[in-house]
Amino acid sequence: MKDIEFPIFKTKINSSKKFDLTDFSQRQEYFELKAGKEIKKLREYLKENTFIVYLLGKKNSGKGTYAKMFKEVVDKDRIEHFSIGDMIRELDKVLKDKSKKKELISFLEKNYRGFLPLEEIIKSLEKRSTKTLLPSELILALVKKEIAERGKKAFFIDGFPREMDQISYSLFFRDLIGYREDPDVFVLIDVPEAVIDERIKYRVICPLCQTSRSLKLLPTEEVKYDKKEKKFYLICDNSDCPARQGFAGQNLGGQGERMVQKEGDELGIEPIRKRLETDEKLIKQAFSLYGIPKVLLRNSVPTDKAKDFVDDYEITPEYSYQKDKKSEEIKKNEKPWQILDDNGAPCYSLMPPPVVVSLIKQITKVLGL
Ligand SMILES: [Zn+2]
Repeated sequence: MKDIEFPIFKTKINSSKKFDLTDFSQRQEYFELKAGKEIKKLREYLKENTFIVYLLGKKNSGKGTYAKMFKEVVDKDRIEHFSIGDMIRELDKVLKDKSKKKELISFLEKNYRGFLPLEEIIKSLEKRSTKTLLPSELILALVKKEIAERGKKAFFIDGFPREMDQISYSLFFRDLIGYREDPDVFVLIDVPEAVIDERIKYRVICPLCQTSRSLKLLPTEEVKYDKKEKKFYLICDNSDCPARQGFAGQNLGGQGERMVQKEGDELGIEPIRKRLETDEKLIKQAFSLYGIPKVLLRNSVPTDKAKDFVDDYEITPEYSYQKDKKSEEIKKNEKPWQILDDNGAPCYSLMPPPVVVSLIKQITKVLGL
């Protein structure tokens, strides 16, 4: 990020062992090797205690991925991750369901205190005008409801605070929900905008099962070439995909579906530039807070420092393709994905697991374990 330098976290160890971090069981083994001691301490801690993490990172920076992986690795039952964005989208469904709507309104009548009348907020929500900003007081009441329903567990709250005024709410949030003794932590995530931009530009989805991959960063096994468009494309490899099961009329042979780019994705971060600016301000504001512990995570490592800080297999690879003129066979090339960070320095982008190792170790330290 411009103006603030997040420290580089060393995950390199003295071991010749290599892991395929996209493979579930190899990933478990990797975490055991690199953070086994800390994971054990955290599991022990979570038996009796909780914590609240506010995840702050730019839109589309993948912060949910880190939280979900932390939960998967440390303790699936004692940790909850939830996203304010999902919660707001879910509101739409709730309001269409009569009994759920009644329940929501009765909760809000008891718990919402704000400057806009509740009826007015509900009306504007029902008009699908969620684009209009929801009052922070309402978000706060909804987060409380969400936490009450999930019970006393450790929480990763993704997307709160979302606006500048919500920073101060978050400072008292722990007291509001009655976790007075249990700590809360800000986790700030620095992901270069070039990373976010390329992730959006190269992502493709399966029109049948919505599986999301990336031609450049996360291809499927099967790559094909479109002669007319002179473009390579991916074939969906989700085994639950309707195309694989022969439900889709034209695909009865069980062949995979061609993955496509969503309209607008070719623009990368352009349409969300305003949001990214707000997010950056939020991160900087949180960074300058006193009295609340902060964990700093970074997704990138400068190319000239990579050798000392990370193992090769922790760097995200990028893929390119070549078609053999004679055999028509498609060859996949792999090399470390290099981008420029927000200050213009060449960097590698890390796979999620090393970032999560850094998260696990820093949380353990913050909790004093
Ligand atoms: Zn599919």
